[in-house]
Amino acid sequence: METWQEVLRTNSIRSLDLLAEKFGPENFPDLDRLRLAAENFEFRISPAMVELIRSPDDPIWRQYVPTADELDIVDGIVDSLNEDADSPVPNITHRYPDRALFLVSPVCASYCRFCTRRRKVGDPEKIPMSQFESAFLYLEEHTEIRDVIMSGGDPLLLNDRRLDAILTRLRSIPHIQIIRIGSRVPCHLPERITPELCDMLRKHHPLWINTHFNHPDELTPAAVKGLGMLADAGIPLGCQTVLLKGVNDDAEIMKQLMHRLMLARVRPYYIYMCDQVAGAEHFRTSVQTGLNIMKALRGWTSGLANPYFVIDAPGGGGKIPLLPEYVESSNEDEVVLRNFRGDRYVYRQPREEARVSHDPEYFLQPTFELKKGRKRTAKPRRKSA
Ligand SMILES: *Cc1c(COP(=O)(O)O)cnc(C)c1O
Repeated sequence: METWQEVLRTNSIRSLDLLAEKFGPENFPDLDRLRLAAENFEFRISPAMVELIRSPDDPIWRQYVPTADELDIVDGIVDSLNEDADSPVPNITHRYPDRALFLVSPVCASYCRFCTRRRKVGDPEKIPMSQFESAFLYLEEHTEIRDVIMSGGDPLLLNDRRLDAILTRLRSIPHIQIIRIGSRVPCHLPERITPELCDMLRKHHPLWINTHFNHPDELTPAAVKGLGMLADAGIPLGCQTVLLKGVNDDAEIMKQLMHRLMLARVRPYYIYMCDQVAGAEHFRTSVQTGLNIMKALRGWTSGLANPYFVIDAPGGGGKIPLLPEYVESSNEDEVVLRNFRGDRYVYRQPREEARVSHDPEYFLQPTFELKKGRKRTAKPRRKSA
């Protein structure tokens, strides 16, 4: 049987000529301009994704086949999330109080044309373990970091031995409680999910994996099998989806995707607005499109199929959640709400005496006057002047 490395090496599409040969040269009228796009950013489509492409410009094609649109750089930013500014040492981005991002691999099985980290991926393939030493030292010194997110590139493209070495080193750091891996391998290269990988990963619990699926068709039987193996290894699975024009900017498609993820034992975690990254303008939708999709999920299907919808703020602000408006008005007495069907409901706020309990001074009162015969009134004695 072929190893996953062989599958990737021999059956991927890495050249535009091969692509044109496979899908018909008539679909690539301007091959020269396309070559510029492919040179601008790493190009590879893994076998599982090649198999999923049905026709030009379908949701799978759009994610992986270079287009001349990538050359129309409007207002995109090379490092749109300002990750490099928040990077104290190579391969670490430390933006939040208690967790840090650790880039452990520059390579992916397939390269998404909307990649946020396109400036980083595709670097030389063999990184010596010693290159991570400053990152490990940083994580060791910063005892406030309790959650490390391994990302890349795709961490699961490292071989088992290298992954095991990184995980073992991280596990030797007492204050690191949680390790997460962000990987699109369950979608791109399900062959990579082997029993050996699962046996190695389960030694490093608590370990979480956030995967990345964007379209219901991507949940192939092979992908579902791989996800099941990871789940059986005790790894909680989440999914980070990117809202993409012509791929999943449709409520029905998105709902199907969420349902298929749940069937594959994956809890949808985030839906991201597409980042303002240079060369990915043609993938972006309006924020309202995303809000409408969220509105079509909440209430209409399982709460578990409702991820957070976020914008990873340009300039390094981090993830900011967005919610359709369900509050029509609110004051001290009542909150007027609309439910998922648009019907109006009123929630009465607690009376003032109950509200007062939020006042820290309430708890500093020396005595409560408990009136005889009246069970529920425990009125705080206000400080007399
Ligand atoms: C997304 C991200 C995290 C993790 O954020 P969560 O909301 O905890 O999933 C951590 N660091 C950086 C830099 C990130 O972009």
